[in-house]
Amino acid sequence: MTSPQKPLPDVNDRHRAPFWAAAREHQLKMQKCTACGYVRWPATQHCPECLDENDNWVALSGKGKVWSFGIYNHLFNAAFADDMPYDVALIQLDEGPQMYSNVVGIDPDLLVPDMRVEAVFEDVTPEVTLVKFRPAS
Ligand SMILES: [Zn+2]
Repeated sequence: MTSPQKPLPDVNDRHRAPFWAAAREHQLKMQKCTACGYVRWPATQHCPECLDENDNWVALSGKGKVWSFGIYNHLFNAAFADDMPYDVALIQLDEGPQMYSNVVGIDPDLLVPDMRVEAVFEDVTPEVTLVKFRPAS
């Protein structure tokens, strides 16, 4: 019997494809509005601040802090059995956006709000690289 597969993101999504392409290169990139400079996530056609449609994908530092988190002690998907328990964290990036991810390389019970973290890249398949975070060195 083969192990169940974890769900994977649609890396060809028309708004988010540049994010996944950058992740494959082990870079964290997000849209920066060319009109007002607002850096946004998730990717959208219009800037939520000024509604302009023009943007550039810019490289971010990958640094931020844990804004909030939850620890999963109950298995909802058998594909995650080897990860139990695991965290889902809301990361406040230094450039402004917040994104959901996992903090890896630490016992989830040791997570605390405001913990400094940095991005790490997990190559899952040749097409999919996930952006996760670890405690900052
Ligand atoms: Zn804008």
